[in-house]
Amino acid sequence: MSTATLTIDLPAIVANWRALDGMTACETSAVIKADAYGLGAAKVGLALARAGVRQFFVAQAEEGVTLRRALGPGPVINVFSGHMPGDADMIRAADLVPMINSVDQLLLHVESLPGHPFGIQLDTGMNRLGMEPAEWSALRDIALAQRPTLVISHLACADEPDHPMNAEQLSTFEEMTAGIGAPRSLAATGGTLLGKAYHFDLCRPGVGLYGGLPFVDAAPVVRLDVPVIQVREVMPGESVGYGGAFVARRPTQVATIAAGYADGLIRAMGAEATLTHEGHRLPVVGRVSMDLITVDVSALSEVPEHLELIGRHQSVDTVAGFAGTIGYEILTSLGARYDRVYLT
Ligand SMILES: *Cc1c(COP(=O)(O)O)cnc(C)c1O
Repeated sequence: MSTATLTIDLPAIVANWRALDGMTACETSAVIKADAYGLGAAKVGLALARAGVRQFFVAQAEEGVTLRRALGPGPVINVFSGHMPGDADMIRAADLVPMINSVDQLLLHVESLPGHPFGIQLDTGMNRLGMEPAEWSALRDIALAQRPTLVISHLACADEPDHPMNAEQLSTFEEMTAGIGAPRSLAATGGTLLGKAYHFDLCRPGVGLYGGLPFVDAAPVVRLDVPVIQVREVMPGESVGYGGAFVARRPTQVATIAAGYADGLIRAMGAEATLTHEGHRLPVVGRVSMDLITVDVSALSEVPEHLELIGRHQSVDTVAGFAGTIGYEILTSLGARYDRVYLT
């Protein structure tokens, strides 16, 4: 079969959650939006719930509905996008907790689902989602009277510990939430690593659970093995692939492997990328095609059945670096065609 195998290590995800939880004195939730960063929200959510995670975050109500089906009643499922028009039935039926982002969302929520739990998202400087200081001061007393279950904000630069915006957002969050009584949450993975001042009552790591930066010490979670379909000898002066982008200068053994940009291995990684076999780094030659990649395997005495793109020898972030992007984007782009194997 010419399907690449994506191996997802659920115990490693649990170990990463425990490691992050161990760095704080507060509760640690799990962010499993975008289908758990592409790794499968139902499987990841169940593994984490069994390990003791009591609160989850998703981006949209629809994701929350799917997750509730997998988890059953019990764990809290929070929704970052809040309460959007048309969401009320899903929020009620799946018992979701929207993070309210504006006056309009608060009105919609209390009118359509009076008494249903909600949280509040504040914007402390990122200018992306949540109520800004002026809006919040006008609404604060009314909102707090409805007893929000959680008040959150999000850091723009937490992956850069020395960035001045971290301390600025922290002090804005402290000012906006002084004396509110409700539990507070500011830190994602990066904020968790910034230290105690950022932890408040709940941390919300996502990417660190999946082995990505900025959690440098994370256990690797993902392995991607791509089958070799064919091997050929390319002579000096001959080219490989679309546009003849690679021209051999010496006799070169080229393996054609069965994955491409349709599987999330974005074309931009082309010239820089390597695959690995038992620690040998093997350069990609020519352009990444939709379903195929060509690799210089001249360094190997025998060509194996599979080459590894992501794994122990090359992290998700290393692969992201080939394409000038971040691990988050590689993870969430991992294709639907892979044969997904879950280690349990
Ligand atoms: C995605 C997200 C998180 C998790 O961020 P990571 O960097 O993946 O840990 C936390 N909070 C909010 C609001 C988010 O959008």
